[in-house]
Amino acid sequence: MITIKNKEEIEVMSEGGSILAEILDDLESLVKVGNTTLDIDDRAMELIDHYKVEPMILGYHPVFANHPYPAATCVSINDQVVHGIPNHKPYTFKNGDLVSIDLVIAYKGLVVDSARSLVAGEATSEALALIGATKEALMAGIKAARPGNRVKDITMAISGSVPKRFGIVEAFCGHGVGFDLHEAPQVPNVLIGDPGPVLKPGMVLAIEPMLTMGGHEVEVKNDGYTVVTKDGSLSAHVEHTVAIMKNGPEILTKRSKVR
Ligand code: MG
Repeated sequence: MITIKNKEEIEVMSEGGSILAEILDDLESLVKVGNTTLDIDDRAMELIDHYKVEPMILGYHPVFANHPYPAATCVSINDQVVHGIPNHKPYTFKNGDLVSIDLVIAYKGLVVDSARSLVAGEATSEALALIGATKEALMAGIKAARPGNRVKDITMAISGSVPKRFGIVEAFCGHGVGFDLHEAPQVPNVLIGDPGPVLKPGMVLAIEPMLTMGGHEVEVKNDGYTVVTKDGSLSAHVEHTVAIMKNGPEILTKRSKVR
């Protein structure tokens, strides 16, 4: 079911989203050569306590997995696309690693979801180009999140913005968010035929393109969660929670001026 959030609920989600942005800014500063994925998750838990918000993926048990997710964050390195587990055999960042951090929190009972990609140490021009294209795809998708458009307009804006040399992961996609971690509708990054519903004010979507330096195919590792590119190519993932307002899209997961 697609849910509609009222003005007060969107206001709360914007406050929660601003907290999430502050936490992610802090976590980004820890993506340094010699630090580990566990350092990222430990710091996330400290900040989650500090801001009195809830870590929504800690203990989350998706149907595809045989055990609940054991960490607050997903930290995915290089060929890992999404759902890298930071506290299962913690990984020490090396120079040039492409690191994606995904965090979902609830604030006053409402859920916001955001992800960032960046490089530890010195980035190659390839990694920077991939991250840049992923961010551009996200912004193109957000621009299309307007009342009267359909979900497919977001999808086509995302896929249409991506230079041909990059792959777009099809197996995972964006989603409605707010009262729950995953709500309808799905927001694909590649057109799958169904144009999806018409966008209406009060809908809130997590938009999250995942790009690769190679093909679009992915597989899940033995830990049951970590998604990697099948061809071993680098991958980047960025995400914002976006409210459809009467006048257009509003990014909820950015730092607000009031805070
Ligand atoms: Mg996410």
